[in-house]
Amino acid sequence: MSTTPMRIIASYGHQFLALTLDKRTDMDASAYIQLVARGKKQGYAVGDIVNVTPTSNNQGAIESLQERRNHFYRSEFNKQKNLAANIDQVAIVCATEPAFSEELLGRALICAEVAEIEVLIILNKVDVSDKLASARATLSLYPQLGYPLIEVSSKQADSLDTELKPHLAGKTTLLMGQSGMGKSSLINALIPDVQLKTREISSVLNSGKHTTTFTRLFDCDINGQASDIIDSPGFEQFGMAQFSLSQIQHAMPEFKPYLGQCRFHNCKHLQEPQCAVLAAIAEGQITEKRHQFYLRLMEQLDYYDHARY
Ligand code: GDP
Ligand code: ZN
Repeated sequence: MSTTPMRIIASYGHQFLALTLDKRTDMDASAYIQLVARGKKQGYAVGDIVNVTPTSNNQGAIESLQERRNHFYRSEFNKQKNLAANIDQVAIVCATEPAFSEELLGRALICAEVAEIEVLIILNKVDVSDKLASARATLSLYPQLGYPLIEVSSKQADSLDTELKPHLAGKTTLLMGQSGMGKSSLINALIPDVQLKTREISSVLNSGKHTTTFTRLFDCDINGQASDIIDSPGFEQFGMAQFSLSQIQHAMPEFKPYLGQCRFHNCKHLQEPQCAVLAAIAEGQITEKRHQFYLRLMEQLDYYDHARY
C-alpha cells in the first residue's frame, strides 16, 4: 500500500498529530491526522516528516521516518528525548525578571552545539528597566561565544518588528524558555489566533487536557515569508547524560582552540598539569564562570557513568 508523507505538528507523550505537506496549521481540527507508531517505538519529534498509511478517518500509522536534517534533543537519565526535528534554529527566551537560570541556558546551548543547530538568545521584558542592567551583564558573555543576542519586549510591538521578526522570517524556530520568561506572550504577539489553534490541537490530541504541556508547531507568516514556530515545554529538564565527554568539550566554543593542546591527550581540564584550557582561564581567554559550568557537567557525566554500570 502506498504511504503519504506527513509532517508531525504536535506531540504529547507517544501521541502525534500530523498534517499532509500541502496543509497548514490554521486548518480546522478536521485536517489533523492522529498517528500511531507501528512496530518498535521510535523517538519521533515535532517537525519530523513521516510516511503514513491511512487507517481510518483522520488516523494513520507511521511506517517510516524520512531522513532528518537535524534533531534537537535532551536526555532524561539514559533516554534521549527528542524535542524537535528539521529546525533552523533554537531561540531561548530569557527575561529581565524573574531572573533566568544561566545553568539551563548553558545546557540548552550544549544541546544545540551537539546537534549543530544555530542559536538565538532573546532577552525579553527589556521594558523592566531596573532589572535590565544585571540581565545584560549576565548575558554579555554569550555574543562573545558566538551566540546572537537580541533584546525585545513583548509589550512593545516595534521591538518585535525590528529585532525579532527578521530572525524568524522564513525559518523554522524552536522556541524555548523557563516558564515566566514571556514565551507565550511572544507567541501570542507573533501568531494571530494562536489560542484558538492550540485549543483545536489539544481537543484532537488530548481531549482538551494539559493544553500547554505538549510541543506544537505553528506555521505562520512573518514579514511575508512562510515561517514555523515550534513551542516546546520542558526547558527545566535539560539532562546531559546522553552526551560524551568529547561532545561536551567540543560544545564549549571557547574551549575549542585549546583542545588537543594539553600535555595529556585525554586531559579532562579539571586540574591536570600543563592543561591548555586551565592556562587560557588564567590568561582570561575563558571565564571562570564557564569552567565552573563545565565542571558541573563533568560531575553529572561521572554520576551517570557510575549509574550506568
Ligand atoms: P511564559 O511562562 O514564558 O509563557 O510567560 P508568559 O507569556 O505567560 O508571561 C509571564 C508574565 O510576564 C505575564 O504576566 C506577562 O504579562 C509578563 N510579560 C511577558 N512579556 C513581558 C514583557 O515584555 N514585559 C513585561 N513587563 N512583562 C511581560
Ligand atoms: Zn586540559
